[in-house]
Amino acid sequence: MTAGWASLVGQTQSVATLQRAVSDARLDPPGTAMTHAWLIIGPPGAGRSTAALLFAAALQCDDQGCGECSSCNEVFHDSHPDVVRFNPQQLQITVDEARGLIGRASLSPDRGHWTVMIVEDADRLNEVSGNMLLKAIEEPTSHTVWLLCAPSTEDVLPTIRSRCRVLQLRTPPWRDVARLLEADGVDPSMAAFASRAAQGHVGRARALALDEDARLRRQEVLRIPMRLTSLPACFAAASDIVATANEDAASFTDPLDSNEHDELLRAYGEGATGQGITKTRIERLAKGAVRELEAHQKSRRTRAVRDRLDRVLIDLITFYRDVLVLQVGSDVDLVNEELRPSLDRVAAESTPESTRRRLDAISRTRRLLQSNASPQLLVEALTVELARG
Ligand SMILES: [Zn+2]
Repeated sequence: MTAGWASLVGQTQSVATLQRAVSDARLDPPGTAMTHAWLIIGPPGAGRSTAALLFAAALQCDDQGCGECSSCNEVFHDSHPDVVRFNPQQLQITVDEARGLIGRASLSPDRGHWTVMIVEDADRLNEVSGNMLLKAIEEPTSHTVWLLCAPSTEDVLPTIRSRCRVLQLRTPPWRDVARLLEADGVDPSMAAFASRAAQGHVGRARALALDEDARLRRQEVLRIPMRLTSLPACFAAASDIVATANEDAASFTDPLDSNEHDELLRAYGEGATGQGITKTRIERLAKGAVRELEAHQKSRRTRAVRDRLDRVLIDLITFYRDVLVLQVGSDVDLVNEELRPSLDRVAAESTPESTRRRLDAISRTRRLLQSNASPQLLVEALTVELARG
């Protein structure tokens, strides 16, 4: 895989900003290009986590982020003692989690000059956990750097936003993503297809390039627009979309769930013998902890389902984007050339205005999926809207 700054594709300006910060961080006292709190924003798949990890690695590396030394590799593999990467598994970051982060941030670095705290999905901070973190960000120790990641500045509490330097990532151009895949050994035509189909989502592009199942699932999704011929058909299509997302998410979360459950019961003494410990007694003792674990697992599942639905929506965007290309007679290449007959038909049967309206409806659904709304209802509303013509 491509290492170092080159893996942050299409973000020349942001890379320059971070590199300046890294070299100012070495001065004593640090220069003004370095600061203690950063808010890294950008659309899903643009590389927020990658940017945070590269910055963290460069702050720890003797060579300002070579991407190859053992220190850099430790950061990339989440095993560097002075880099903490918090990836919230639930829809909100809890007070306990925030407290844990603040405690960790106060510890002096083990090796270098910086303790780097990466908080992915900082938009999941609520009023209470956000305000707790705010205090730590406002009065950082001289060795702590906070890197908060979120989709946009509006998603973050205004008090936190105002204390951070904002690093804005953009949607990377597909050609840059394709070059990255090629550098990782993907065949050029596959790299071009996957990058355009992923609409600037780097992780999605990589999955499409490397995983045939992902490509097959995408083909299924692209048949959906042609199925939306009646109201019952819209509901059926919505049910299929949600059911597939649920199954797919379960295949990821089920093994995690049962491992965690077993581990918890073991921690409460299951398997211990000869001390009058019965299974019923263990279950009674562990009851509260099990309930807490199950709540945590439920929100992780919810999140996994939403992530999968988001990919479906990206695929649908490429379909209607192609329809629009045909309708306005633009000479850019189609993403889904192999579907030309279907695309031609939809293009002939509708207007550019209705296609724009459909694209808006999909984008709106993507946004709403990040809220607490029911995915089933959102997807049903979308398929009905797409069928409206
Ligand atoms: Zn290095």
